[in-house]
Amino acid sequence: MISLMPTIFFGHGNPMNALSKNSYTEGWASIGKSIPRPKAVLAVSAHWYIPYCAVTSNLNPRTIHDFVGFPKELYQIEYPAPGSRELALRVKDLLVPVAVSLDEGWGLDHGTWSVLKHVFPKADIPIVQLSIDETQPPSFHYELGKRLASLREAGVLIIGSGNIVHNLSACSWGEGDVQPFDWAVRFEEHARELLLKGDDAPLVNYQSFGRDAMLSAPTPEHYLPLLYVLGLRRKKEKVSFPVQGVDGGSISMLAVQIG
Ligand code: ZN
Repeated sequence: MISLMPTIFFGHGNPMNALSKNSYTEGWASIGKSIPRPKAVLAVSAHWYIPYCAVTSNLNPRTIHDFVGFPKELYQIEYPAPGSRELALRVKDLLVPVAVSLDEGWGLDHGTWSVLKHVFPKADIPIVQLSIDETQPPSFHYELGKRLASLREAGVLIIGSGNIVHNLSACSWGEGDVQPFDWAVRFEEHARELLLKGDDAPLVNYQSFGRDAMLSAPTPEHYLPLLYVLGLRRKKEKVSFPVQGVDGGSISMLAVQIG
């Protein structure tokens, strides 16, 4: 029997999680210990949101510190995981007829490394990032997830990294325990129910949730990585939420594990 690698959406939240030890980062570390060791990781991060599809093909992807105004220690973190040209080429093939560029310039952005630093602290598993094409509708990203499904049988861990609820202008980071906004709780709860039911269509058409969606996902890039993970789900496959919580009132840290 072929063992199927799980696929996981991570809510990454504050880049400081890379340095912190808290319930989110401890949850990420536990995930790393509980799943089979992958041969490679394919990461779809909210922070590589560009007008076309690309995969990183460099053998030594750089650690990108794509944020401003954080403490110096955060800029000193390196996550020196290798790349994998082989996986990059495989992704390019699987996504035909969508044109996918091989990209040597990008590397690992904080959506990827701030989480994987806890999941795989040794940084010894090859990682490839796939960009999110900002010109495409949500259904496109869901379909791309479906096309990547065979990678799970090949021992590749596919992760999405974003936040199901991500409203930075409403967020009060670092102000202690903040009560989550009611719209954030409703939107996340609705998403959880649909995930448990396996009802993908409303999750893909999330913008039809009205005001709650407008406030929870005011821009699409942190929500869309979820749709790749959703597209990878097999019929009736188990869904769990190994990390939970809402940070700063308006950032859902929910992790969604399939398989
Ligand atoms: Zn982010």
